[in-house]
Amino acid sequence: MRTQRQVVDYSLQKRAVLRELLAGRVGTYDVCDASPYLKNAARFHGEPTDRRCPICRSENLTLVHYIYGDELKQSAGQARTLAELPVLAMTLREFQVFVVEVCLGCDWNHLVEQYLLGRDGLTGDSEGTSEQDAAGAEGGGRRRREAQR
Ligand SMILES: [Zn+2]
Repeated sequence: MRTQRQVVDYSLQKRAVLRELLAGRVGTYDVCDASPYLKNAARFHGEPTDRRCPICRSENLTLVHYIYGDELKQSAGQARTLAELPVLAMTLREFQVFVVEVCLGCDWNHLVEQYLLGRDGLTGDSEGTSEQDAAGAEGGGRRRREAQR
């Protein structure tokens, strides 16, 4: 998504949890604890994936996108389909998205990533592009830095 920024990836934390599980230091009941709310959100707003659940390996994971932010008012904390996010991103200045993967088979769930969306990201994008253009027009900032070494 164009306005996506400040992405935090939680795959390391997830791998750590799976390692703990394999080592027997935590039980499946500790990590397969999706609430009825989360499972409903997965059923009605979830994004199906073709990735197998790392725990039961019989169901595919579903991604749930939760949105947070002052501008959302009473919608804050609700799940949204992936298709709804770009529309919101063009309407609002800034909101936070939390992506959670859920297995509807064994209730495994884990935070996948979080990021910001919203119109405020558009100006940031164009600034980045113009900076690159400027460097190119000057004949490349990199060559100058190399010459200094
Ligand atoms: Zn599962």
